[in-house]
Amino acid sequence: MDFFPRLPVAIAFALASALVAHAASKAITSFTLQELEPGSCDPVMFEAKGTGYTGAGYINTPNDKAARITWSVKSPAGGPHTLEIRFANGSKEARPGVLEVNGGANGKFDVPLPLTGSFAQWQTATVNVDLIAGENTIALQAITDGGLANIDYLKVTGANPSPGNCGEPERGAGPAAPVDFSYLNAPPVGWVTQGDGVTGGGNARPVVVRSMSELQAQAAGTEPRVIHVDGKLRGTLTVGSNKTIVGLQGAEIRSDGRVLHLPGSRNVIIKNLHLVGVNKPNQPNTVLHDVKNVWLDHNSFINGSHDLLVVSGTSDFVTLSWNVFRQTYFGHDHMGVNIGASDNDTTSRGHLRVTLHHNFYAKFVNERMPRVRFGQVHTFNNLCLAGTDVQSRSYYAVRPGVDANVRSERNIYKDFVGPSWWWTSEKLGAETSTVFNYARGNGNSVLESIEDVAIPTAVKGPIAIKEHEGVTGQAGFYGNGKAFVPPYTYTADPTDGLEKKIRAGAGAR
Ligand code: CA
Ligand code: CA
Repeated sequence: MDFFPRLPVAIAFALASALVAHAASKAITSFTLQELEPGSCDPVMFEAKGTGYTGAGYINTPNDKAARITWSVKSPAGGPHTLEIRFANGSKEARPGVLEVNGGANGKFDVPLPLTGSFAQWQTATVNVDLIAGENTIALQAITDGGLANIDYLKVTGANPSPGNCGEPERGAGPAAPVDFSYLNAPPVGWVTQGDGVTGGGNARPVVVRSMSELQAQAAGTEPRVIHVDGKLRGTLTVGSNKTIVGLQGAEIRSDGRVLHLPGSRNVIIKNLHLVGVNKPNQPNTVLHDVKNVWLDHNSFINGSHDLLVVSGTSDFVTLSWNVFRQTYFGHDHMGVNIGASDNDTTSRGHLRVTLHHNFYAKFVNERMPRVRFGQVHTFNNLCLAGTDVQSRSYYAVRPGVDANVRSERNIYKDFVGPSWWWTSEKLGAETSTVFNYARGNGNSVLESIEDVAIPTAVKGPIAIKEHEGVTGQAGFYGNGKAFVPPYTYTADPTDGLEKKIRAGAGAR
């Protein structure tokens, strides 16, 4: 097998020229950070009711002193900048905040946020700050029990500021050196190697597709095909059997509905695609239903609800490796990977054998890393990030349910300890603790945690888990028996250095 995609040299050169031109200009410029865009770091309470807002909506924080909004702004050289905050306050009293630049190290400013007449009437508050060169964190912290006013945007004016990266590593930006894609030639590991194994399109001569209709035509049916995807395409991709689909550098499929659908497909390999969905109710990004021998490797699954990825029905022999699972903003139903769609779908019994290794669940994935019903699921060497913000920290990572058998091995659970502000019936409710592995199954559910590692931060209280049955453990590690032993050979990396390795290696390029 050879997945080595062709490199678009001309595109890289054009980007390099554009970047040089940008750096040479020193004009005063502005940009506006809307709630769902890069640079808005924890848009926790996105809402779009009423009128008068700009962009997709606004941020409605919990009515609580702990409410906080964080933005990230890059400045090439630092210096004076003007921040304009657009707000509406239709409550009964002012909802002031304190604006902190870089945790207060570069200034703290009172922002009054008075009544504006109604939540549909918007005003702006202006703060003059000095930014440092590089990435700056701008936080607006509530100081009363009312929380903050609703916030429409943050506008930044200064010497060429740009949206920051919220402390995340830079990824895929600009004319990076050509990527060595040889890592895509690594052989599959895990359950996908069992049964009939996986060869995808095998040695079929690769075809390059540049439109959704070409891609869809090539991906249909059972003829063995190797398909290279070039460019950014829109629509839902339905994949048949005996296919290898590889994204060339920067390849993307974006859809307002489902992005990727494998119904009953056999022997499929999909690599190096950015798969971008939406957070509409009951609109998963990707669904594998009744599939056999499917390998999804080095893809980036971005936005989907409830789940980024569903494996359901009689699906079997699936490996998910080196993928990034990312939700771009917080929502209580922004979940990760759901294996087994329903307690009632007993067609799954005896199937749903899935391996997950070296995947990265980024911070706005709230839970399901994965959630499992039925099946034998082996999850090893994954990085599960809960997020450090009390308002948006994930609730749990792995959850075995009905008849699930889960072997969790040398995963990293980061920032799960301590209270998170968990969703109740309609609003963010009381603080509750978060857990790494959480079991609510039945008498047959098994969860074994083997050398998993937690990197807790901000431990503020006892671990109190509302729901767990038949499991024992402490400090968030729960287990209730011996999990299955995988029939395939694999090597689980030590957890030392694993976070760095996954951050550097997971996802599409
Ligand atoms: Ca509020
Ligand atoms: Ca807005």
